[in-house]
Amino acid sequence: MSKIVPFDNNAICDGCGQKGAHDFMGDFYCPECASKDFKFHPFIYYIKLGDLLHYQNADEAVVAEHVDQNFTLYRSGVDDRIIGFEFNRFSKLLSKKMIEEIIEKQND
Ligand SMILES: [Zn+2]
Repeated sequence: MSKIVPFDNNAICDGCGQKGAHDFMGDFYCPECASKDFKFHPFIYYIKLGDLLHYQNADEAVVAEHVDQNFTLYRSGVDDRIIGFEFNRFSKLLSKKMIEEIIEKQND
């Protein structure tokens, strides 16, 4: 699964001050700065279309461990530690209102 990093045309790059930057969970870098000084930031994302919640806290090769049909653990391919997870059918765990709040906040 690829990383989802939103691009904001009006955001100012923290590295060079240029307009137009990717939003790395609150840190902004234009494509040029991001490519030469990329620092991984943990990210969590709810994808409404698939009804899944994805979290990852390290930029490493990932080994997916399917715990059951709705929950997948991501382990590091380097040292086997847990570096993320994915919940499928996430909305079954939360009320509709909580899901709406998550979507609203991540679109801010
Ligand atoms: Zn820049």
